[in-house]
Amino acid sequence: MSNLPVREKRIAGIGVSQGIRFGRAFLYALPEAKVSFPERIESHFVETELKRLASAKDQTLSDLERIIEISKQTLGEEKSVIIQGQRSMLNDPAFYGEIVKHVEKKMFSPEKAVQSVVDQLTALFEKMNNAYVKERIHDVKDAANRLMSHLQKNSYPDLTQLMEPAILIADDLTPSVTVQLDRRFVLGFVTRLGGETTHTAILSRSLGIPAVVGVGEALAEIEHGNELIIDGTLGVCIVNPEPATTQEYLTKLQQEEAFEERLSAFKQQPALTADGRQVEMAVNIGMPEEFREGIVDEVHGVGLFRTEFLFMNSDHFPTEEEQFAAYKKVLEQWKDKPVVIRTLDIGGDKNLSYWQLPKESNPFLGLRAIRLCLQERELFKTQLRAILRASVFGRAKIMFPMITTIQELRQAKAITEEVKAALRSDHIAFDESCEIGIMAEVPSVIQLADRFAKEVDFFSIGTNDLVQYTLAVDRMNEKVAHLYDYFHPAVIRSIHSLIQAAHKEGKWVGMCGKMAGDPLAAPLLLAMGLDEWSMDGASVAKQKFTLSSLTMPVSQALLVRVLNMDTAEEVRSAAKALIE
Ligand code: PEP
Ligand code: MG
Repeated sequence: MSNLPVREKRIAGIGVSQGIRFGRAFLYALPEAKVSFPERIESHFVETELKRLASAKDQTLSDLERIIEISKQTLGEEKSVIIQGQRSMLNDPAFYGEIVKHVEKKMFSPEKAVQSVVDQLTALFEKMNNAYVKERIHDVKDAANRLMSHLQKNSYPDLTQLMEPAILIADDLTPSVTVQLDRRFVLGFVTRLGGETTHTAILSRSLGIPAVVGVGEALAEIEHGNELIIDGTLGVCIVNPEPATTQEYLTKLQQEEAFEERLSAFKQQPALTADGRQVEMAVNIGMPEEFREGIVDEVHGVGLFRTEFLFMNSDHFPTEEEQFAAYKKVLEQWKDKPVVIRTLDIGGDKNLSYWQLPKESNPFLGLRAIRLCLQERELFKTQLRAILRASVFGRAKIMFPMITTIQELRQAKAITEEVKAALRSDHIAFDESCEIGIMAEVPSVIQLADRFAKEVDFFSIGTNDLVQYTLAVDRMNEKVAHLYDYFHPAVIRSIHSLIQAAHKEGKWVGMCGKMAGDPLAAPLLLAMGLDEWSMDGASVAKQKFTLSSLTMPVSQALLVRVLNMDTAEEVRSAAKALIE
């Protein structure tokens, strides 16, 4: 064994959720399932093997109970339903009952019995024409994996083993893994995959967990239990830090805390520039856990309610009543403040566990968001009906995602009118003046902004997608993350021209992509006259602080220069010179 001191290593990634954390690495990865077992058993072993099976089932159920409890406490009742699906499998005669029968009647070993029931059910479910039933395949497989690992005496590597605060190291984190997180124990994330605007990144920001994603193959340099420092602002993970580095980061942490303290004074203040201009700040929401007392008084409203989280955190399509209750709750929380409710935006990196969409080679250019809703009319109508019914409890506005053509907008509006007509004939009240807007996130909307502006009440610029579609850079792909930049002059010009076209028609423009919360972008957005700036709750105070030192003439002068620049680097450094 070498006695060489452990060397410090620095791993670079993309900082997607701010903050510095110190902790040990917890490696989360599904190991290859061990599958060596006899297929058949002798008849006199049936009883013993059934006992072994029953004991594996009991252990699996007790794991699941523990996970359900943890997820209820940390992420709420709704999300524990995903795990509950697996529990019900273990009590289902079509699953567990069949496994027992295979051991009793066919004299299969319990492992072989589990395997063949999984194969049988998978084949059966796949033939069915029902997305919900098809998606039960995941529950079957997950439950079978857990059962198998107890039969094989492996411990299933779920996150319940995370019993003390640690930094989670993973390939990627899916929503269903995230529901298992006990947030008391997750200090931060480091992932191999991902970019700034992936679902994981958005989720980590909304949960306030620092994260560095897209570190690529360097992830392999981190071992379970290594001491780490992660810097979610700069996108750095330091493995086995030397004492001097630890000291450096302790000082940085203190500075960050002191800055946070200073910012807190801005929370309750209106967003005012140094020359007295007021800007409307709003927040993006998705999960009920993000709501905190006081936020309603700090901002103008909700600029983006990502309703897909409601769908992603369920194990079935939320019914009209379930959706109505969720929208009503949010509108009541926000009282008389506007809430922009975006209709279902799935596809791309956002998938539903219970609805397997056909595999596509370019999912971000495929059947997603409004395209899907216009195809699945009933799904769309159910959501619109729920939103409209809830609209009497607050100030709802409806927004369609990923509109690309005028026809799509017209169709979506026509469907909304149909839903309204049905509500009227059922004598169900809704807000007749509910505004309808669209996300401006596809270049065709920018080009045709003057036309779209005649047919919408508002736009909200989704820079997360607008950047990927304008610059042809996959927002998920860490290999091209260096090209993903909203300071690219093409993006800046797009935003500028959209705002001008909308204002010409007297329509307001919001921005709900990540750019709205970036202090460096503040002078440009101010000069362009962006009407509503919507961001994650944690960025609001910082953006108010930035605005407090800006004036309109200085910002306008910067914009004039920027509109004549060639590269993102030039734009960025000109903005930096003003802000820092
Ligand atoms: C965007 O594209 O900028 C946006 C806000 O939507 P999402 O990140 O959910 O695609
Ligand atoms: Mg988008």
